[in-house]
Amino acid sequence: PPLYLQRYEFVIDFVNKNQPKKVVDLGCNDCALLRMLKFHRVIELLAGVDIKSDVIRKKMYALAPIPIDYLQPGESPLTIELYQGSVTERDSRIKGFDLVTSIELIEHLQLEDVSRFTEVVFGYMAPVAAIISTPNADFNPLLPGLTGFRHYDHKFEWTQAQFHSWALKVCREFGYVVEFTGVGQIPGQEESIGFCSQIGVFHRDRLEGDAPCQPSDVTKEHIPYRLLYKVVY
Ligand code: SAM
Repeated sequence: PPLYLQRYEFVIDFVNKNQPKKVVDLGCNDCALLRMLKFHRVIELLAGVDIKSDVIRKKMYALAPIPIDYLQPGESPLTIELYQGSVTERDSRIKGFDLVTSIELIEHLQLEDVSRFTEVVFGYMAPVAAIISTPNADFNPLLPGLTGFRHYDHKFEWTQAQFHSWALKVCREFGYVVEFTGVGQIPGQEESIGFCSQIGVFHRDRLEGDAPCQPSDVTKEHIPYRLLYKVVY
């Protein structure tokens, strides 16, 4: 299967294994991953966030219930919420989720916005788990005809060492553990070159106790994101 589908399948496998109830996809684009996730009825709240409202709007009505959803109802109702907003801003409606996914998003951010994203996701949203994927620059020499970045909008592409050092800093600062993996590989080469898309799977460290929570966070509502679509099954 094409690489983007392998990334989505990686998320689906994780959902099957870990059974998260609240899932948010950051940089959800046209909601392709959300459309696949809505069939996983362990999920009770499925949210998507993208900075571009036009890409969200393109296919968002495809998230509406179809007859089979009524014929095979899940155990609990499913709510889907789509927001236009930037992952560099905190929104209190996207806090305390079981799973945050960010698939091929961070490389579209300026580095100072990656710092904001990191603080928003791990310091504020503080999910139980997070799946972050980004291109692996070590793999680029294997891509035929590639000069420069894989996409004109990429602000950077990290080597495995760069991605690992960012991820390990996240773990130290916010109390997570990370497992490195990826999708797209050449058999026998994964040791040195790694995967075409590198993925960090983060879990909140149980030993750290509850997520850090400032007293002001409890009372203060930040709702800068714009709700574009909401459906309850
Ligand atoms: N996650 C999807 C996938 O894997 O197919 C889309 C990846 S696409 C390469 C990156 C997406 O991130 C785009 O839809 C873009 O609009 C969105 N994006 C870029 N900067 C963002 C920001 N600051 N906040 C939220 N979304 C952003």
